[in-house]
Amino acid sequence: MLNPDFIEWINGLATLWPTAEIRINTNGTSFNRWPGLYDQLLKYQGRVNISISGHNEHTKQKELDTVKNFLKGKLTHQLGLTKTFQLWTWRNNYNNIRDPSWPDVNSLEDYYKLPDHIRHEIETVFKLNINNYLTYEEPVEDHEVFVDENGIRVGWARWNVFKTSAVTFDPTAQSMKLYNSDPKIAIQTCHGGHCAHIKDGKLYKCAVMGILPDMFDQKFPFDISEEDKKLILSYEPALPTWDDTKLNKFTKSLATRDTIPQCKFCPENPVRTKIYSTHHKIKVVRRDS
Ligand code: SF4
Repeated sequence: MLNPDFIEWINGLATLWPTAEIRINTNGTSFNRWPGLYDQLLKYQGRVNISISGHNEHTKQKELDTVKNFLKGKLTHQLGLTKTFQLWTWRNNYNNIRDPSWPDVNSLEDYYKLPDHIRHEIETVFKLNINNYLTYEEPVEDHEVFVDENGIRVGWARWNVFKTSAVTFDPTAQSMKLYNSDPKIAIQTCHGGHCAHIKDGKLYKCAVMGILPDMFDQKFPFDISEEDKKLILSYEPALPTWDDTKLNKFTKSLATRDTIPQCKFCPENPVRTKIYSTHHKIKVVRRDS
Protein backbone atom coordinates (compact mmCIF):
# COMPACT_ATOMS: atom_id res chain seq x y z
CA MET A 1 0.00 0.00 0.00
CA LEU A 2 3.03 2.25 0.02
CA ASN A 3 3.47 1.71 -3.70
CA PRO A 4 2.55 4.98 -5.45
CA ASP A 5 0.96 2.94 -8.25
CA PHE A 6 -1.04 0.75 -5.88
CA ILE A 7 -4.43 1.42 -7.52
CA GLU A 8 -2.92 0.89 -10.95
CA TRP A 9 -1.65 -2.48 -9.79
CA ILE A 10 -5.14 -3.50 -8.72
CA ASN A 11 -6.63 -2.43 -12.03
CA GLY A 12 -3.85 -4.00 -14.06
CA LEU A 13 -3.98 -7.34 -12.26
CA ALA A 14 -7.77 -7.48 -12.34
CA THR A 15 -7.73 -6.83 -16.07
CA LEU A 16 -4.98 -9.31 -16.85
CA TRP A 17 -6.50 -12.08 -14.73
CA PRO A 18 -10.23 -11.48 -15.11
CA THR A 19 -11.33 -14.53 -13.12
CA ALA A 20 -8.69 -14.64 -10.40
CA GLU A 21 -9.13 -13.55 -6.83
CA ILE A 22 -6.70 -10.73 -6.08
CA ARG A 23 -5.60 -10.62 -2.51
CA ILE A 24 -3.86 -7.62 -1.02
CA ASN A 25 -1.73 -8.66 1.93
CA THR A 26 -0.85 -5.78 4.17
CA ASN A 27 0.17 -5.09 7.74
CA GLY A 28 -2.71 -2.63 7.86
CA THR A 29 -0.72 0.47 8.76
CA SER A 30 -1.42 2.26 5.45
CA PHE A 31 -5.00 1.18 5.17
CA ASN A 32 -6.38 4.72 5.06
CA ARG A 33 -3.88 5.99 2.56
CA TRP A 34 -6.18 5.34 -0.38
CA PRO A 35 -9.56 7.08 -0.04
CA GLY A 36 -10.77 5.65 -3.37
CA LEU A 37 -9.90 2.08 -2.46
CA TYR A 38 -13.39 0.99 -1.44
CA ASP A 39 -14.83 2.03 -4.82
CA GLN A 40 -12.07 0.12 -6.57
CA LEU A 41 -12.91 -3.04 -4.65
CA LEU A 42 -16.58 -2.51 -5.38
CA LYS A 43 -15.82 -2.22 -9.07
CA TYR A 44 -14.45 -5.77 -9.01
CA GLN A 45 -17.49 -7.14 -7.12
CA GLY A 46 -15.71 -8.77 -4.24
CA ARG A 47 -12.96 -10.30 -6.35
CA VAL A 48 -10.29 -8.10 -4.80
CA ASN A 49 -9.92 -8.80 -1.09
CA ILE A 50 -7.72 -7.42 1.64
CA SER A 51 -5.96 -9.51 4.22
CA ILE A 52 -4.21 -7.89 7.15
CA SER A 53 -1.28 -9.80 8.60
CA GLY A 54 -1.10 -8.66 12.18
CA HIS A 55 1.95 -9.65 14.18
CA ASN A 56 1.03 -7.85 17.28
CA GLU A 57 -1.89 -8.43 19.63
CA HIS A 58 -1.53 -4.85 20.93
CA THR A 59 -2.48 -3.29 17.61
CA LYS A 60 -5.24 -5.73 16.76
CA GLN A 61 -8.16 -3.68 18.04
CA LYS A 62 -6.95 -0.56 16.24
CA GLU A 63 -6.61 -2.49 13.00
CA LEU A 64 -10.04 -4.07 13.38
CA ASP A 65 -11.58 -0.65 14.01
CA THR A 66 -10.03 0.61 10.77
CA VAL A 67 -11.47 -2.38 8.93
CA LYS A 68 -14.95 -1.78 10.36
CA ASN A 69 -14.82 1.90 9.36
CA PHE A 70 -13.72 0.94 5.88
CA LEU A 71 -16.48 -1.58 5.23
CA LYS A 72 -20.08 -0.52 4.66
CA GLY A 73 -23.46 -1.58 5.97
CA LYS A 74 -24.19 -4.79 7.83
CA LEU A 75 -21.08 -6.89 8.40
CA THR A 76 -20.87 -10.66 8.48
CA HIS A 77 -18.18 -11.90 10.81
CA GLN A 78 -16.44 -15.25 10.38
CA LEU A 79 -14.09 -16.73 12.92
CA GLY A 80 -11.38 -19.34 12.81
CA LEU A 81 -9.92 -21.34 9.99
CA THR A 82 -8.56 -24.80 10.45
CA LYS A 83 -8.45 -26.08 6.91
CA THR A 84 -7.95 -23.78 3.97
CA PHE A 85 -8.05 -24.73 0.34
CA GLN A 86 -6.09 -22.21 -1.67
CA LEU A 87 -8.77 -22.53 -4.30
CA TRP A 88 -7.89 -19.60 -6.53
CA THR A 89 -4.27 -20.57 -6.87
CA TRP A 90 -5.08 -24.23 -7.37
CA ARG A 91 -7.81 -23.47 -9.90
CA ASN A 92 -5.55 -21.19 -11.94
CA ASN A 93 -3.00 -23.97 -12.17
CA TYR A 94 -5.76 -26.47 -12.97
CA ASN A 95 -7.10 -24.23 -15.75
CA ASN A 96 -3.62 -24.06 -17.26
CA ILE A 97 -3.33 -27.82 -17.56
CA ARG A 98 -6.90 -29.02 -17.92
CA ASP A 99 -8.26 -30.88 -20.87
CA PRO A 100 -11.41 -29.13 -22.23
CA SER A 101 -13.45 -32.22 -21.28
CA TRP A 102 -12.53 -31.97 -17.59
CA PRO A 103 -15.18 -30.46 -15.30
CA ASP A 104 -14.95 -27.13 -13.48
CA VAL A 105 -13.65 -27.27 -9.94
CA ASN A 106 -15.07 -24.62 -7.64
CA SER A 107 -14.55 -26.22 -4.27
CA LEU A 108 -12.68 -28.96 -2.50
CA GLU A 109 -15.79 -31.14 -2.80
CA ASP A 110 -15.72 -30.69 -6.60
CA TYR A 111 -12.11 -31.78 -6.62
CA TYR A 112 -12.88 -34.97 -4.73
CA LYS A 113 -15.73 -35.68 -7.16
CA LEU A 114 -13.36 -35.65 -10.17
CA PRO A 115 -13.01 -39.11 -11.73
CA ASP A 116 -9.98 -41.01 -10.43
CA HIS A 117 -8.14 -40.98 -13.77
CA ILE A 118 -8.30 -37.18 -13.94
CA ARG A 119 -7.08 -36.76 -10.38
CA HIS A 120 -4.33 -39.25 -11.08
CA GLU A 121 -3.24 -37.33 -14.19
CA ILE A 122 -3.37 -34.00 -12.35
CA GLU A 123 -1.13 -35.29 -9.59
CA THR A 124 1.31 -37.56 -11.40
CA VAL A 125 1.67 -36.02 -14.86
CA PHE A 126 1.23 -32.34 -13.96
CA LYS A 127 2.50 -32.62 -10.39
CA LEU A 128 -0.39 -30.48 -9.20
CA ASN A 129 -0.67 -32.00 -5.78
CA ILE A 130 -3.77 -30.93 -3.90
CA ASN A 131 -1.96 -31.30 -0.58
CA ASN A 132 0.26 -28.38 -1.47
CA TYR A 133 -2.86 -26.22 -1.60
CA LEU A 134 -4.42 -27.36 1.65
CA THR A 135 -3.41 -25.87 4.90
CA TYR A 136 -4.57 -27.91 7.85
CA GLU A 137 -2.52 -26.28 10.51
CA GLU A 138 -2.62 -22.60 9.75
CA PRO A 139 0.18 -20.77 11.51
CA VAL A 140 -2.50 -18.41 12.62
CA GLU A 141 -3.75 -18.25 16.14
CA ASP A 142 -6.30 -15.72 15.48
CA HIS A 143 -8.20 -15.25 12.26
CA GLU A 144 -11.25 -13.17 11.54
CA VAL A 145 -12.91 -12.15 8.31
CA PHE A 146 -15.39 -9.33 7.88
CA VAL A 147 -17.63 -9.25 4.82
CA ASP A 148 -19.86 -6.25 4.19
CA GLU A 149 -23.20 -5.99 2.45
CA ASN A 150 -21.49 -5.32 -0.88
CA GLY A 151 -19.45 -8.51 -0.61
CA ILE A 152 -16.16 -6.69 0.17
CA ARG A 153 -13.98 -8.84 2.43
CA VAL A 154 -11.24 -7.84 4.80
CA GLY A 155 -9.51 -10.47 6.88
CA TRP A 156 -7.31 -10.05 9.91
CA ALA A 157 -4.95 -12.81 10.96
CA ARG A 158 -2.17 -12.98 13.49
CA TRP A 159 0.88 -14.45 11.79
CA ASN A 160 3.48 -15.16 14.37
CA VAL A 161 4.93 -18.47 13.24
CA PHE A 162 7.96 -18.26 11.03
CA LYS A 163 9.83 -21.02 9.21
CA THR A 164 13.58 -21.17 8.78
CA SER A 165 14.64 -20.42 5.24
CA ALA A 166 17.92 -20.58 3.31
CA VAL A 167 20.07 -18.28 5.42
CA THR A 168 21.36 -19.12 8.89
CA PHE A 169 23.49 -16.89 11.06
CA ASP A 170 26.36 -18.24 13.11
CA PRO A 171 26.72 -15.78 16.01
CA THR A 172 30.12 -17.16 17.03
CA ALA A 173 31.70 -16.72 13.62
CA GLN A 174 29.43 -13.72 12.86
CA SER A 175 28.85 -15.21 9.44
CA MET A 176 25.94 -16.35 7.33
CA LYS A 177 25.59 -19.80 5.87
CA LEU A 178 23.30 -21.60 3.45
CA TYR A 179 22.13 -25.20 3.61
CA ASN A 180 23.42 -27.98 1.43
CA SER A 181 20.26 -30.05 1.04
CA ASP A 182 18.80 -32.40 -1.45
CA PRO A 183 16.98 -29.83 -3.66
CA LYS A 184 14.09 -32.21 -4.32
CA ILE A 185 13.41 -32.59 -0.59
CA ALA A 186 13.94 -28.90 0.20
CA ILE A 187 11.32 -27.75 -2.29
CA GLN A 188 8.70 -30.06 -0.84
CA THR A 189 8.74 -28.28 2.49
CA CYS A 190 9.52 -24.74 1.41
CA HIS A 191 6.89 -22.08 1.58
CA GLY A 192 8.81 -19.65 -0.60
CA GLY A 193 8.21 -21.70 -3.72
CA HIS A 194 4.53 -20.72 -3.48
CA CYS A 195 5.40 -17.03 -3.67
CA ALA A 196 6.93 -15.83 -6.91
CA HIS A 197 8.74 -12.58 -6.26
CA ILE A 198 8.85 -9.45 -8.42
CA LYS A 199 11.89 -7.25 -8.00
CA ASP A 200 13.23 -4.52 -10.28
CA GLY A 201 10.76 -5.59 -12.95
CA LYS A 202 11.97 -9.19 -12.95
CA LEU A 203 10.02 -12.26 -11.84
CA TYR A 204 11.79 -14.70 -9.53
CA LYS A 205 10.70 -18.18 -8.54
CA CYS A 206 10.81 -17.17 -4.90
CA ALA A 207 12.09 -14.43 -2.61
CA VAL A 208 15.21 -16.45 -1.80
CA MET A 209 16.39 -16.25 -5.40
CA GLY A 210 15.46 -12.57 -5.63
CA ILE A 211 17.10 -11.46 -2.41
CA LEU A 212 20.33 -13.45 -2.10
CA PRO A 213 22.12 -11.51 -4.90
CA ASP A 214 21.17 -8.26 -3.15
CA MET A 215 22.60 -9.58 0.10
CA PHE A 216 25.87 -10.31 -1.70
CA ASP A 217 25.88 -6.79 -3.15
CA GLN A 218 25.30 -5.36 0.29
CA LYS A 219 28.22 -7.37 1.62
CA PHE A 220 26.38 -9.48 4.15
CA PRO A 221 29.04 -11.69 5.72
CA PHE A 222 28.38 -14.95 3.85
CA ASP A 223 30.65 -17.87 4.43
CA ILE A 224 30.01 -19.85 1.24
CA SER A 225 32.16 -21.19 -1.57
CA GLU A 226 32.75 -19.31 -4.81
CA GLU A 227 31.06 -22.18 -6.59
CA ASP A 228 27.86 -21.79 -4.54
CA LYS A 229 27.90 -18.05 -5.06
CA LYS A 230 28.23 -18.57 -8.81
CA LEU A 231 25.29 -20.98 -8.78
CA ILE A 232 23.11 -18.40 -7.03
CA LEU A 233 24.14 -15.63 -9.40
CA SER A 234 23.49 -17.86 -12.41
CA TYR A 235 19.75 -17.93 -11.63
CA GLU A 236 17.80 -16.35 -14.47
CA PRO A 237 14.61 -14.49 -13.49
CA ALA A 238 11.87 -13.94 -16.08
CA LEU A 239 12.03 -10.64 -17.93
CA PRO A 240 9.21 -8.62 -19.49
CA THR A 241 11.13 -8.76 -22.77
CA TRP A 242 10.82 -12.55 -22.98
CA ASP A 243 8.60 -13.95 -25.68
CA ASP A 244 5.39 -15.79 -24.78
CA THR A 245 6.89 -19.25 -25.21
CA LYS A 246 9.72 -18.58 -22.78
CA LEU A 247 7.45 -16.80 -20.32
CA ASN A 248 4.82 -19.54 -20.41
CA LYS A 249 7.48 -22.17 -19.79
CA PHE A 250 8.70 -20.19 -16.80
CA THR A 251 5.26 -19.63 -15.27
CA LYS A 252 4.32 -23.26 -15.86
CA SER A 253 7.43 -24.30 -13.97
CA LEU A 254 6.25 -22.07 -11.09
CA ALA A 255 2.83 -23.68 -11.13
CA THR A 256 4.24 -27.20 -11.09
CA ARG A 257 6.83 -26.21 -8.47
CA ASP A 258 9.78 -27.52 -10.43
CA THR A 259 12.98 -27.97 -8.49
CA ILE A 260 15.89 -25.75 -9.43
CA PRO A 261 19.51 -26.55 -8.49
CA GLN A 262 19.51 -23.56 -6.13
CA CYS A 263 16.86 -25.27 -3.96
CA LYS A 264 19.77 -27.05 -2.33
CA PHE A 265 20.41 -23.89 -0.32
CA CYS A 266 17.12 -24.27 1.57
CA PRO A 267 16.55 -26.57 4.56
CA GLU A 268 15.15 -30.08 4.17
CA ASN A 269 13.50 -29.80 7.57
CA PRO A 270 12.58 -26.19 8.20
CA VAL A 271 12.00 -25.30 11.83
CA ARG A 272 8.92 -23.37 12.85
CA THR A 273 9.32 -20.72 15.48
CA LYS A 274 6.76 -18.56 17.17
CA ILE A 275 7.80 -14.97 17.53
CA TYR A 276 5.90 -12.58 19.71
CA SER A 277 6.45 -8.93 19.14
CA THR A 278 7.22 -6.80 22.16
CA HIS A 279 7.41 -3.10 22.81
CA HIS A 280 11.20 -3.22 22.62
CA LYS A 281 12.61 -1.40 19.65
CA ILE A 282 14.92 -3.45 17.45
CA LYS A 283 18.21 -1.70 16.96
CA VAL A 284 19.02 -1.30 13.28
CA VAL A 285 22.55 -0.36 12.28
CA ARG A 286 23.88 0.51 8.87
CA ARG A 287 26.17 -2.12 7.41
CA ASP A 288 29.57 -0.89 6.21
CA SER A 289 29.85 -1.18 2.46
S1 SF4 B 1 15.13 -21.89 -3.74
FE1 SF4 B 1 13.70 -23.61 -4.05
S2 SF4 B 1 13.45 -24.51 -2.00
FE2 SF4 B 1 14.32 -22.45 -1.72
S3 SF4 B 1 12.56 -21.09 -1.41
FE3 SF4 B 1 13.05 -21.06 -3.60
S4 SF4 B 1 11.74 -22.64 -4.49
FE4 SF4 B 1 11.81 -23.02 -2.28
